[in-house]
Amino acid sequence: MKVSEKLNIIQENINKACEQSGRAAEHINVVAVTKYVSVERAEETLEAGVLHLGENRDEGLVSKWEVLKDKPLWHFIGSLQTRKVKNIIDKVSYIHSLDRLSLAKEIHKRADKPVSCFVQVNVSGEDSKHGLSPSAVKEFIFQLEELTNIHVVGLMTMAPYTDDEPYLRSCFRKLKAMQEEISSLNLSYAPCTELSMGMSNDYMIAIEEGATFVRIGTALVGND
Ligand SMILES: *Cc1c(COP(=O)(O)O)cnc(C)c1O
Repeated sequence: MKVSEKLNIIQENINKACEQSGRAAEHINVVAVTKYVSVERAEETLEAGVLHLGENRDEGLVSKWEVLKDKPLWHFIGSLQTRKVKNIIDKVSYIHSLDRLSLAKEIHKRADKPVSCFVQVNVSGEDSKHGLSPSAVKEFIFQLEELTNIHVVGLMTMAPYTDDEPYLRSCFRKLKAMQEEISSLNLSYAPCTELSMGMSNDYMIAIEEGATFVRIGTALVGND
């Protein structure tokens, strides 16, 4: 299917989820995750009208960036090794996987302007998931104050891969509650107004629970 056809379906689903929850669809940013597909498919995605592209490895991001340059806004969504920061820092607008102080320091050092970062939280506590434990998030954010190139725009989570809807909802709700708590602190370096949550299998639920950035791969750009 063409990306434009898939995008229409996704946009309809986003509209439904927004109606369901009394939200405005224009507040939902779709990040097309192109990690599994070719640069041609990524280009088709931009032509369909998507503004944001996400990659989870530095090689993938750099190779697509070399062709598409700054046509999209680039999102780094995968776990990021400290030594890889220098490869992507001048290319990305958003980093979704800030989860430790050593990484924050490296981003601060390498960036020549503030970078919009999401602090990644392991809400479910699954061992396989990256991210800070919920109890560590506030303290972590306080430690970022001096790192003036880190701008904490929000929180990000990857929900467990399950079709247990009530459980998914509870994960997203927990992240939303944490985001609101941090936002209410009015920290100039961490406005924390955004929520990066929801993927191909759970983006409608995530939107109903407050997502402002959904990261969609398979359902949007998959080759089927
Ligand atoms: C791959 C990936 C996605 C998109 O996954 P799909 O299930 O294909 O939509 C979203 N977020 C992260 C962090 C990913 O690594």
